[in-house]
Amino acid sequence: MKGRVYRIVGNSTIVQSGGEEYSCQFRGKLKREKKKTLRLVAVGDEVEFQPSGSGEGIIEEVLPRKTKLSRHDSFRPRYEQVIAANVDQLVIVHSAADPGLNLITIDRCTVMGEAAGLDCVLCINKNDLADVRAAVSPYEAAGYSVVMTSATEGEGISLLKDRLRDRISVLLGPSGVGKSSILNAISPELGLKTGVVSRKTREGRHTTTWVEMIEIEPGMEIIDTPGLEFFTLWGATPENLRELFPEFFSRQGDCRYRNCSHTKENHCAVLAALEAGEVARSRHENYRTIREDLALKRDQIR
Ligand code: GDP
Ligand code: ZN
Repeated sequence: MKGRVYRIVGNSTIVQSGGEEYSCQFRGKLKREKKKTLRLVAVGDEVEFQPSGSGEGIIEEVLPRKTKLSRHDSFRPRYEQVIAANVDQLVIVHSAADPGLNLITIDRCTVMGEAAGLDCVLCINKNDLADVRAAVSPYEAAGYSVVMTSATEGEGISLLKDRLRDRISVLLGPSGVGKSSILNAISPELGLKTGVVSRKTREGRHTTTWVEMIEIEPGMEIIDTPGLEFFTLWGATPENLRELFPEFFSRQGDCRYRNCSHTKENHCAVLAALEAGEVARSRHENYRTIREDLALKRDQIR
């Protein structure tokens, strides 16, 4: 049977197929391959498995991934850790206040999404508390879609739901911005606990279930990532970072130097656009900061 990995709990891989869940182990030949990679499957992977009765099964094969969202493994940073597989889009959730907008965190998330080749949507929640439309306009200018929501008032929820339909989305954002509240607003029957404290306990208690897939309705699948607050940027380097800022990438053909870093060069189209107010100062400053961080991290990993 064909199925999809919804959760990984300890040694068991929870596979969903035809509305049923199967707690699966790996076939021996797959276990041997495990020596080469840290983990054989990630949430979102499609697998071929053999049901063995009473809701259990054996995974025979992991099908090729269409996309993957990764970070550096926390313990062995040279290794890739796939956070989620076969994802269509990254939904970056932040709040207008409490906690307030943190633009560099948003920029690190867009870079993560771009490096994985995913569409990025920015969801600004707690819109009832503050008006941050001006602060997020750079993202619209860069080509990202921005959805303003208030999970408590219900504002923007149906718009967000439209964005989530017929896709696999990863929800990513700091704790306390309202990710659980948004999921509950989208689908009240989920009944997720809300409030910073409950998130922390959840993360602490089941360290292996920090990523899980939730089917909101057929075709609308969300991968929730409580506890993925801090991550490293897999696939981004000081050299390719400029390609991961779409509003820089679209201008780079007009720079005089082909390898222009858009930081100090003469006749740089990005710096010119910055001066003209067409590229946001915050995006450019954060680009420089992330670039320096990546160079530093690379030296540490070597
Ligand atoms: P998570 O950690 O991202 O899952 O955040 P939660 O959903 O647990 O929400 C954190 C806190 O923010 C809770 O006390 C929620 O009631 C509150 N909250 C969530 N969404 C909104 C909103 O749109 N407006 C306001 N004012 N508070 C919200
Ligand atoms: Zn340039």
